[in-house]
Amino acid sequence: MPRTWLEVSLDRIALNYRQVSRLAGPGVELMPVVKADAYRHGATAVAQTLEHEGASWFAVSNVEEGKALREAGIRARILVMADRLDSDPRAWRDARLTPVIHDLAGISQLAPTLPYHLKIDSGMGRLGTRASASEILAHTRGTSLEGLMTHFASSANFSSEQTEAQHQRFEHIRQSLDSAGIRPRWLHEASTNPLHFGQKHTWRNLVRPGYAIYGFVSRPAGKAPAELLDVAPALTWKATILLVKDIEAGSPVGYGAQFVASRPMRIGILGVGYADGLPHRLGNRGHVIAAGRLVPILGAVSMDVTTVDLTSTPHLNAGDPVTLLGSEGDVSLDARQMARQAGTIAYAILCGISTRVNRIYV
Ligand SMILES: *Cc1c(COP(=O)(O)O)cnc(C)c1O
Repeated sequence: MPRTWLEVSLDRIALNYRQVSRLAGPGVELMPVVKADAYRHGATAVAQTLEHEGASWFAVSNVEEGKALREAGIRARILVMADRLDSDPRAWRDARLTPVIHDLAGISQLAPTLPYHLKIDSGMGRLGTRASASEILAHTRGTSLEGLMTHFASSANFSSEQTEAQHQRFEHIRQSLDSAGIRPRWLHEASTNPLHFGQKHTWRNLVRPGYAIYGFVSRPAGKAPAELLDVAPALTWKATILLVKDIEAGSPVGYGAQFVASRPMRIGILGVGYADGLPHRLGNRGHVIAAGRLVPILGAVSMDVTTVDLTSTPHLNAGDPVTLLGSEGDVSLDARQMARQAGTIAYAILCGISTRVNRIYV
């Protein structure tokens, strides 16, 4: 048995996709976001599964991610959302990748016939152009503007006006282009949150769900509307017990003696550490599931190993697996819970699982 591994359910990913697709309804295409190796679920396998489900677009962050999907035989359109455009425009065409352009200067660098999506910084203050509608009009006229997009900064915060202000800014630019006869084929604003919380006016004709495809939704702030998706995680993270031992009261455990046993204990040393992506911050505060029970992490998480309390599960032995993310019986731990204990976000937990952890598809 490997020291630590991931089990990914492609069936679950397909079910999540179908649910999002049903919610979006006819006339709204899905562009599943498979950047960062599909949030570590494996971009190739996820894209193959979703292409089979009918996805005709995928979003990635950079050119390398896009090329890897092409080499794996993905035929759907691929949008590259966050890379530089300094390479030869022919390279984009050869790889059949579609760039997102973030400033007006970028448009003139393109071959005039290469389709592109223009991102509007409607108020997030990150990627995208902040140019005025008239400047955008002047630069996009006569080009192959295929898509107009924006991204929301606070889409799960219902005590903030930011999402609506961003939508209005985007809509203003769309209308200015429209009245000049420029009508991009694709308009897209929404990621998981505006889908889950039913902000239908932002769905346009294309949506970019990532998180929901992997079985997660954000917890809202403020007075949230009804939550519409009931997706479930597709990823289980396991580790093997390398050694079980009994220690006396007063024994320190791990680096810095950050834990000292107050009673005789049975401890298990797991073959997983922060080099695998288990957050160091879980030291003395995280949990794992051992034999169907939640048991605490003792002392510091080290690079390759982590110690847990197995006093309540004395029948476990070296070689037995425990669950870091997933469920055993009716006890479960998901990336959101782990994130809360580690003081981070579930996205960072998922993307932080190291490539050293092998994946199997179940
Ligand atoms: C990552 C990303 C998404 C997907 O967001 P989720 O919250 O995972 O659904 C959508 N659009 C852009 C621009 C992104 O960077």
